[in-house]
Amino acid sequence: MGDNRLVTTAHKKPDAVLLAAVDLARMALLEDVGDAAVGDHLRAEAEGERLLTHYFACSHRGYVGWNWAVSVTRASRQKVVTVNEIVLLPGPDALTAPGWIPWKDRVGKDDLGPGDLVPVTEDDPRLVPGYLVGDEALDEDNARQVREVTRELGLGRERVLSVEGRIEAAERWFAGSNGPDTPLAKAAPGLCGSCGFLVRMSGPLSTMFGICANESSPSDGQAVSFDHGCGAHSDVRVESSQHQPVTASPVHDTLNTDVFTQEVWTVAGQT
Ligand code: SF4
Repeated sequence: MGDNRLVTTAHKKPDAVLLAAVDLARMALLEDVGDAAVGDHLRAEAEGERLLTHYFACSHRGYVGWNWAVSVTRASRQKVVTVNEIVLLPGPDALTAPGWIPWKDRVGKDDLGPGDLVPVTEDDPRLVPGYLVGDEALDEDNARQVREVTRELGLGRERVLSVEGRIEAAERWFAGSNGPDTPLAKAAPGLCGSCGFLVRMSGPLSTMFGICANESSPSDGQAVSFDHGCGAHSDVRVESSQHQPVTASPVHDTLNTDVFTQEVWTVAGQT
């Protein structure tokens, strides 16, 4: 097979007959896809006992970097080689579609429209049964029983935030646009913790966050960290001198003559 490269592994010994069947593999490929799309033989890879794949470049302009893979095989103690499969596979430089991302991981908050539903799984680590209001881990059956009892007894929400859910939320809020590291916060004249527009929350997250209630702030109605801040802080005062418009001094022009027009109105019986 000339200068063709052989790729193999320690546990897959290439079959000599299959290794030499490059022309047969090419013929089968040409018959299947036509000569316009088939380029040079690239390499051969031993796949298993009496099973080997020959790779050819794909010269189709729409599949740059893709390779034809022609698998060949033969029966034990037989010299007749059989083409097993022909497929087109992406090479390392091929243009391919992005990797699959499950729907639940792909949908973001901005994708949620009126009427859309984003189900929460039974074992979502961000939630624990509300009856426990704690961190106890339950298996699925126990969790279902607790929810049924909770619903029957009317003990409030079936599930509440777990410690993990709280930590996730706190980290997300802290690192987000209402945390301390934004340009807005760094340039602010004061922090939210000292602002009169901050509404205190209750619960564990209240030690770090409150709700901004200033309609002039971009954070209005959102959770802000105490060390966030903005230019609408309640302590910001406008200096009275800033209200005075700057006007030029009056000037009496003694060099030019101002021309005024005079209109004469004629009233009946008068000039
Ligand atoms: S107005 Fe600005 S400083 Fe005050 S709470 Fe809202 S974001 Fe914080």
